[in-house]
Amino acid sequence: MNNNMKLEFLAISDNEKFARTAVAAFITQLNPTLDDIEDVKAAVSEAVTNSIIHGYKNISGNVYITCTLRESEAEIVISDKGCGIENIELARTPLYTGSKDSERSGLGFTVMETFMDAITVESVPDKGTTVTLVKKINSPSPSSL
Ligand code: ATP
Ligand code: MG
Repeated sequence: MNNNMKLEFLAISDNEKFARTAVAAFITQLNPTLDDIEDVKAAVSEAVTNSIIHGYKNISGNVYITCTLRESEAEIVISDKGCGIENIELARTPLYTGSKDSERSGLGFTVMETFMDAITVESVPDKGTTVTLVKKINSPSPSSL
């Protein structure tokens, strides 16, 4: 059976570092490179930040993460029960931001696409958003060590 873990935490910025560090610690079991770990941390950070600042903009709630380890890949599913995304294609467009906050550059989904091997986004307005990230991890085989 594939190894997996689940996290659930309050959607506040203080928990973002915890989330990316916990996922990174779990995937070390697949013997990733340091670059792989940094890529996963960057992508998880963007997805979790989006749930906290966009999904739960006006309400409080929890962020849910499940992480599954397969033979040569890690799948990370990040969900919220926040406001959802009306137009997913538009939201994924580089430099698009739905936020009026000048700190946002509209590059979170672009970062996730750049650093992961696959990303899917499912969202229902007023129900929430689920982002699935897949990273291929090519652990060295024992014979090549
Ligand atoms: P940046 O990530 O560069 O700080 P950003 O968050 O606006 O800026 P993206 O992460 O690419 O850019 O997200 C694009 C837009 O998609 C957001 O501005 C927001 O409108 C919407 N969005 C993304 N994730 C969620 C979510 N979990 N819930 C609701 N809306 C979201
Ligand atoms: Mg973002």
